[in-house]
Amino acid sequence: MRLSQMLFVTLREVPAEAEIPSHQLLLRAGYIRRVGSGIYAYLPLMWRVLQKITQIVREEMDATGAQECLLPQMQPAELWRESGRWETYTQAEGIMFALTDRQDRELGLGPTHEEVVTAVARDMVRSYRQLPLTLYQIQTKFRDEIRPRFGLMRGREFIMKDAYSFAAEEADLRATYDKMHEAYCRILQRCGLAYRVVDADSGAIGGSGSQEFMVLAEAGEDAVLYSEDGQYAANVEKAVSLPPDPDPSPFSQLEKRETPNAATIDQACQLLDCRPTQVVKNLIYAALYDTGLTVLVLVSIRGDQDVNEVKLHNELVKVADQYQSKTLIALQVADSQDLAKWISKPLPMGYIAPDLADDYLQNKQGIAQQFLRLVDPTAVELQNFVTGANQMEYHFVGANWQQDFVLPPQVVDLRLAQAGDRAVHDPQQILCSARGIEIGHIFQLGTKYSQEMGATYTNEAGEENPLVMGCYGVGVSRLAQAAVEQSYDQDGIIWPAAIAPYQAIIIIPNSKDSDQVKAAEQLYTDLNQAGIETLLDDRTERAGVKFKDADLIGIPYRIVCGRSLQEGKVEFVDRATHQSQLLGLDQVMSTLEAALSPSRP
Ligand code: ATP
Ligand code: MG
Repeated sequence: MRLSQMLFVTLREVPAEAEIPSHQLLLRAGYIRRVGSGIYAYLPLMWRVLQKITQIVREEMDATGAQECLLPQMQPAELWRESGRWETYTQAEGIMFALTDRQDRELGLGPTHEEVVTAVARDMVRSYRQLPLTLYQIQTKFRDEIRPRFGLMRGREFIMKDAYSFAAEEADLRATYDKMHEAYCRILQRCGLAYRVVDADSGAIGGSGSQEFMVLAEAGEDAVLYSEDGQYAANVEKAVSLPPDPDPSPFSQLEKRETPNAATIDQACQLLDCRPTQVVKNLIYAALYDTGLTVLVLVSIRGDQDVNEVKLHNELVKVADQYQSKTLIALQVADSQDLAKWISKPLPMGYIAPDLADDYLQNKQGIAQQFLRLVDPTAVELQNFVTGANQMEYHFVGANWQQDFVLPPQVVDLRLAQAGDRAVHDPQQILCSARGIEIGHIFQLGTKYSQEMGATYTNEAGEENPLVMGCYGVGVSRLAQAAVEQSYDQDGIIWPAAIAPYQAIIIIPNSKDSDQVKAAEQLYTDLNQAGIETLLDDRTERAGVKFKDADLIGIPYRIVCGRSLQEGKVEFVDRATHQSQLLGLDQVMSTLEAALSPSRP
């Protein structure tokens, strides 16, 4: 391609809308253009990058035996009602764009395709002889993200590869899952990215496990905890760890102490001369279920620890049927302003005890008449602890479960693991943290969808069983930007060769010099003919502008047909290292071929 003929506009200024380097660079280098919130045009250079990634993904999917197909983006509401997700996806998470057609039929724009693919399998798979089976597609997804941001990282329209596996047995699911795991590792290696595979939260679906593939980068939205021995890595949402041991309590009997102005853990500890590990802290959350019921949740946890709201959310979904509800719509820490709506008299905020009386709750419809009391194991193991006295300006010290407070029956791990904690698999190992961009997620779904939607097969014994499913996603457009986030310098993007839009760029410093033009044209023809995707900068711009643009767009190798032509040589520059060497015209092809060979399959 000749730059003079390409839609090619670069920007000097950093666009104000872009916060992170990869987003800034993709805009500046003319790869993408914002059309609306979370909506982008992929311009010609970007489209080539996306095609490269798509091709790598496709090859690796095909190698697992998965079959490519294309499923509809317009999805009838009935399918989502069958799986029970229509309400959640149009209301609770609100992530699905929904519309009504002229015949008053409701439709959603596919944010994901479990329902559609399960319906297809339900119709077409009859027998165990057709299993195992994996379908995949590479396609635009739509999600009404509440905070679209960082360009392609979190768009409302983006490209995803999604695959769905169907098996007769759990063991077959696991075999496919393992193959996908390997395929994902190969995809990331081939794209030239540094990554980490982490245990992930499976949400309320449960299932036997899921893992995320994180491209490591400071700007990543996800936090990862890992142990240096390589035995453990998890998204912080999911991570478990051993908390530091509690300090022995300085108190030996139950006493109520006056503690003015000590509504925070630190203030109380200072006043009582104790440590946060000796305190049971009690927090109130408000959970709104799809039936319109608000449940106030009293969480007791050790004073130095924080609550992991993803774990709390999952627990509240698990207990939804206690409230005749299917899903949780919202969860928030209840601050004093919200609380006024639900309580009948002022709460002793900052001085709450685990046995806070239920008569604080307003006696009216829409509010559960009892606190849901959950206690984290870190609080359970404390003895002679400090906690609020359910009275402003008073704490108890030397308290014990059973003797002084009834231990809530629901003991659940709600603790947020953090860097510095000891690892569960080996307490000698201390967890470290890193930031990552989630580019893939693989998931053992089990029979959730097949059961809800009646997708069954007949086994050898003639019995009908639900299909055992897995699902596997890669954010193709997110991956493209993640690659930039991992690889750039002050001059611009540095594409890994395997996914660069072009592998080489030839620059004619002075387009009035006919020798330069002639040599460049010849090289351009030869390289492209040899299958090396090459750009030719034949614009009438100054040489400096051309060099700057070549750096900005990040083409791995630059060939400059300048003055050295007088000695029959061209300058060959490696974008990543800026190292340059003079090469004879006849050496360019072989040098490029050698340089590019590791990036080729
Ligand atoms: P996130 O937690 O980042 O919202 P997710 O858990 O919703 O991701 P999945 O539903 O597992 O993501 O989708 C599979 C993959 O699609 C993700 O791993 C990610 O790479 C990509 N993806 C998800 N949402 C977006 C988005 N809004 N924009 C771009 N890519 C996305
Ligand atoms: Mg999401």
